[in-house]
Amino acid sequence: MSTPVSLDTIRLAPKVLLHDHLDGGLRPQTVIDLAADAGYEGLPHQDAETLGSWFREAADSGSLERYLETFAHTVAVMQTADALRRVSAECVEDLAADGVVYAEVRYAPELFQEGGLSLPEIVESVQEGFREGERRAESQGKLIRIGTLLCAMRQNARSAEIAELAVRYRDAEVVGFDIAGPEAGFPPTRNLDAFEYLRQRNAHFTVHAGEAFGLPSIWEAIQHCGAERLGHGVRIVDDIKVDEDGEVHLGRLASYVRDRRIPLEMCPSSNLQTGAAASLAEHPIGLLSRLRFRVTVNTDNRLMSHCTMSSEFAALHETFGYGWADMQWFTVNAMKSSFLGFDDRLAIINDAIKPGYATLMG
Ligand SMILES: [Zn+2]
Repeated sequence: MSTPVSLDTIRLAPKVLLHDHLDGGLRPQTVIDLAADAGYEGLPHQDAETLGSWFREAADSGSLERYLETFAHTVAVMQTADALRRVSAECVEDLAADGVVYAEVRYAPELFQEGGLSLPEIVESVQEGFREGERRAESQGKLIRIGTLLCAMRQNARSAEIAELAVRYRDAEVVGFDIAGPEAGFPPTRNLDAFEYLRQRNAHFTVHAGEAFGLPSIWEAIQHCGAERLGHGVRIVDDIKVDEDGEVHLGRLASYVRDRRIPLEMCPSSNLQTGAAASLAEHPIGLLSRLRFRVTVNTDNRLMSHCTMSSEFAALHETFGYGWADMQWFTVNAMKSSFLGFDDRLAIINDAIKPGYATLMG
């Protein structure tokens, strides 16, 4: 018999997360503790629950620029090796407790240098934290593996340096590279040297594109930069026309994205907060899933969006009626699209994902 779908049972389902920001997923209490350690006095509240709500409300304002402001606080308390280790280990514990079996967690190392840490010190501290988190999860009977993505910020000019850093640590579970930050005014083509370097070294990368900005941003990310995946990619719907009788017409770019199976790292709750979609029911994830684009479901920023992988799936279940088979489809899509090696991806699909959903589907 099939297990009824609820938030609690979704937590038991194996899940895969490709788009989650380390500085967007801190526990509110940890923000408070680390602010005290660092002597940082900028926090608006000193009570974990109130602070948690504050993050969500500030991020709810409807603009990507405002949304990014909330990161001033989390970034301010992540400027020491100890702080980075703690945040990284807790991130893994929280994901494992939510039933995530594989996650790619990303962050921009260049943001954590205010206390004098070098880029390698930052990467090594985070990697130590992730390994510690994996061990803690395992001791509680939860198997989880974390791959790291290093981001360069669009508004800075350090993408070549960060791309080199990603390649340098690729044998230490740094699985790829990304460009993040405000899209408007900072097209991905500003970083062509970094993408060229990564391609020359057979390294993997995704690009935040098509969130606040439209089709040109997606087109540049794929055809100029060579992005293997799209961070968000929501605006690809601008290249899809649905007639009144329901007939669907795909433009050349939308066809290309679907034909090439280019993964879309969709983050529904986050997109509602930044205004990329007006409501979940109107979110392009419904249409794109129906058209069998390579859709994946992600959290983006668990603190700011007050979400988990399970709560995202639960919201999609309520809005679109998705059941276990759909959740398995999203999960297998994500695992196939990860930057982990092929053998490892297959092993997680066969050993964790399929048996997990088989049990739930009864
Ligand atoms: Zn993101």
